[in-house]
Amino acid sequence: MKAAVLRDDQERFSVEEVAVDGVGAHELLIQTAAAGLCHSDLYHLRGVFDIPRPTILGHESAGVVLEVGSEVEGFAVGDHVITCLATFCGRCERCLSGRSYLCAGTHSQRAPGARPRLHQDDAEIHQFLNVSSFAEQLLVHESAAVRITKDMPLDLAALIGCGVTTGLGAVFNKAQVRPGETVAVIGCGGIGLSAIQAARISGAGRIIAVDRQPDKFDVATKVGATDVVDASRYDAAEAIRELTGGGVDHCIEAVGAPATATAALESLAVGGTATIVGLMPSGKTFPVQGRLLLDDRRLQGAYMGAQNFRVAMPRHVELFLSGQLLLEEMVSSRIGLDGIDDAFDAMEAGRAVRDLVIF
Ligand SMILES: [Zn+2]
Ligand SMILES: [Zn+2]
Repeated sequence: MKAAVLRDDQERFSVEEVAVDGVGAHELLIQTAAAGLCHSDLYHLRGVFDIPRPTILGHESAGVVLEVGSEVEGFAVGDHVITCLATFCGRCERCLSGRSYLCAGTHSQRAPGARPRLHQDDAEIHQFLNVSSFAEQLLVHESAAVRITKDMPLDLAALIGCGVTTGLGAVFNKAQVRPGETVAVIGCGGIGLSAIQAARISGAGRIIAVDRQPDKFDVATKVGATDVVDASRYDAAEAIRELTGGGVDHCIEAVGAPATATAALESLAVGGTATIVGLMPSGKTFPVQGRLLLDDRRLQGAYMGAQNFRVAMPRHVELFLSGQLLLEEMVSSRIGLDGIDDAFDAMEAGRAVRDLVIF
């Protein structure tokens, strides 16, 4: 199969032939239909996080099941599936306490010394985040996939595989926005736009979209924002407090930068909650005014939407099919495997919301 391979020290992909190993007992082989480009792929591409290379990036995808391992239950050839990096063992303390999205298990990888899932001759191509989506086929552990209805277009389904589920879940499960509450969302990328939609679906009153790229406000408004703040011109926290006469009930930070995390807390009304969703590079810290917390404000994180994706993703599909979740609006471009480099450049420059690789 063809895949976009990322080699040592390189920041450009090369489309190469990669071999996929035979399907293990608890594995699924999937024909990739589409894969989204996520901001965390960009971090790994630019070497912000260390990962074993050569590898194939991408972790947001959907496709059709080609082959089912002998011990796998609940999947059949021809099923439409969304993949997810948040594999779960169902046995560890985190899984058993309802936080399977934080599963500590290593069950989803092949045992050390076993044949790698992906290789070129004898050389291993490391699988990225249990998925490696920028490839024509995906060989994954069964707990990295969820079956969805065939009514769902597979290209848009890919978006639900990471960004959409992360953004929706942060609002539904962690922030738990109630009807009429005010919400600010800092960062109008894939996760931020999904958080805006979740706020709208939850019945929020004012929904304030914040970004440094004013060209993103069109789509932010289309999917639910009632107000916008151009953070390249105004202090975000100050503008939010001014617009709301004292601050918002919820601020969702979907950038992953120290300054925006501080702004999220400082934009809150008394009793408000800041939910940090953006991926912040390890070692980064941000200042917190302790006095703000005393007035019953809360600062929290939310990983992968704080939900089991097997439950959440089919619900997100239903939200799309019923017209409440807008996905086409979030797609900046549809590209081939050879367009990934340019698409990441556009993402880095803040020009793109979500690009989709179509296979
Ligand atoms: Zn992602
Ligand atoms: Zn577990």
